Amino acid sequence: MHIASYDDDRIGVVVDDQIVDVTDLVPGPRAKWPPVGMVQFIAAFADDLSPVREAAERGARRPLSEVTLRTPVQWPNKLLAYPANYTDHITEMSSTYNARIKGFFLKAASSLTGPAGPIVVPDLPGCSIHHEAELAIIVGRGGRHIAREDAYQHIFGYACLLDITVRGDQERVMRKSFDTFTPVGPWIVTSDEIEAPDQLDMVLTVNGEVRQSANTRDLLLDIPGMIEMASSAVTLQPGDVIATGTPAGVGPIVPGDVIDIRIPGVGEMTVPVIQGPAVRNIAFGASA
Ligand code: MN
Repeated sequence: MHIASYDDDRIGVVVDDQIVDVTDLVPGPRAKWPPVGMVQFIAAFADDLSPVREAAERGARRPLSEVTLRTPVQWPNKLLAYPANYTDHITEMSSTYNARIKGFFLKAASSLTGPAGPIVVPDLPGCSIHHEAELAIIVGRGGRHIAREDAYQHIFGYACLLDITVRGDQERVMRKSFDTFTPVGPWIVTSDEIEAPDQLDMVLTVNGEVRQSANTRDLLLDIPGMIEMASSAVTLQPGDVIATGTPAGVGPIVPGDVIDIRIPGVGEMTVPVIQGPAVRNIAFGASA
């Protein structure tokens, strides 16, 4: 199934070019804020999607074009990311480490944005801002100390993800955490539909030109390895998002660019880049 967040924290199942509202499958009152509906939904159905499947079959459908898709998990407990997880990207960055020995880092969850973006790039004179195409893992059943043999039982699904990054020596967390720097979408494809997550093609274009093209078989730390490593340190929670690393071909983006990421079997996002305001931040050398 393709499970999407849309409009005002609604949850829907996308069937072709239509969507069925399944928000009310999660019982109980719902706060307007924070938008944690999808986290509760994943916690409720991580181990058995059949109620969702039944509701999607009998529910009223409306055109997908009538709704606004949001980032699938708007308020996850954690947004984790693995650096340097494809050899060709390590080579292009002249990195001296990789994900297997470095482990993961965190991005601010507030950097998440929807599949239509836009990516708002700050005005940071002299700084290069790069695209990174990645497969996102969406955690289903949570847990700590998950063995790699059990890892796939903890994966709810997959999505496309862009890890937008200011290059520089500043803390990685700050360089990667600007608002809108993590578009995810267009929906979560549940893991039962992805027969071979370790053999997914991924293509990123900028203004129609191919910049990144890869396959998840080339991940250095593979998907079970990422779940095992993350959960050795932190308790994974339902709805946690894991960015799995980017292959070679990263490059600068500027306002006016249109970025497209496509993972056949998962989905496609087309995201415009627009100019944001100047950043008053002495870490980036701006004057106060
Ligand atoms: Mn990345």
